[in-house]
Order: sequence, then C-alpha cells, then structure tokens
Amino acid sequence: MPSFDLEKISIPLAAIRRGETVFSFDVEINSKEISEKRAYIDKLSIQVNVTVLGEDIIVKLAVIADSLLYCDRCGESFKNDVKSDVTTLFTPDSLKIEKAEGGEIRLFDSHAVVLDITQEVIDALFLAIPDKILCKDSCKGLCPYCGVNLNNHSCSCKKDEIDTRWEALSNLNLNE
Ligand SMILES: [Zn+2]
Ligand SMILES: [Zn+2]
Repeated sequence: MPSFDLEKISIPLAAIRRGETVFSFDVEINSKEISEKRAYIDKLSIQVNVTVLGEDIIVKLAVIADSLLYCDRCGESFKNDVKSDVTTLFTPDSLKIEKAEGGEIRLFDSHAVVLDITQEVIDALFLAIPDKILCKDSCKGLCPYCGVNLNNHSCSCKKDEIDTRWEALSNLNLNE
C-alpha cells in the first residue's frame, strides 16, 4: 500500500448538525511525493459532506489535487488537477463493523471531540492518481534505441525494423 504523509484533517463533531453539513479544507502540501507513484502533490482542495443517520455518520469526501505527474511512457512531467471521491460510514457500533460486507465502514468514538478523516483523504488521493500515468493517450514514448522523446523528435535508428513490427500489430483487428 502506498503511503502519504499528511497533516491530520478532522471535523469537530460539535459542528455536525442534523441533516447535511458541508465542510471544506485547502491544504498546501509543497510538492510532496506519493510513494510508488510518480506524482507530486502541491495543493489539496477537500469538500466534505456529512450526513447524520441515527448514531452513524456518512462522510462523502471529494478531493481535487494540484499535481505534477511524470508520464510512464516518455518520462516528461506535466501539471494536472486530479480528482476523486470516497464515501465512508462512521459508526460507534463495533457490531456493525463485524457484519459489514465490503464498502467503507469505520469505527469512531461518539464521545470524541473530532472525527478524523485523514485516512479518507489519503484514500481519495490515491484513487485520484491513475495507475498508468500518461501525458496524453497518444504519447509515443521514447525510442528504444536512442532514447529520444518521439513526441518531439524523430530519429533514424533501426526505423525499418520498428515500422515492420508496428505494421504487423496494426493489421490485427482487436475488435474481432
Ligand atoms: Zn508521455
Ligand atoms: Zn532512435
């Protein structure tokens, strides 16, 4: 599991009203790396919708991250706003946790002062970064022989060999 060191983010339980309450946070991060992914985060904008359901609390969290990403194919960096959302049910009832089948459900102490949502923010952040990072879908990557970035340059090394191979591939009809 990748890790990310984030200052604690929490919601004061006293500020949660019946029905829905909305909180928002902006967190400056200063280009921190997400481990195991070639992604650096500058700023997080977080919107949290909190709904009280009996003794439980439903937390819907949307995260937008200003990020600097490195293309897995050509290695060039590019800026991108990535976003995602997660929903978690917080319950004070440990029996519900045992019975839960799938879905995000977490225990919280109803006598606590705050609801800690740091892990939810980190989860949303990981979801926001694609597994395969591409500067564009059509990225041509690097020449395997001389290493030039084929998006910006062309090269003459072993071109015929490469062309023949791609031609064979392009003759395959993947839809059949
Ligand atoms: Zn690329
Ligand atoms: Zn080349």
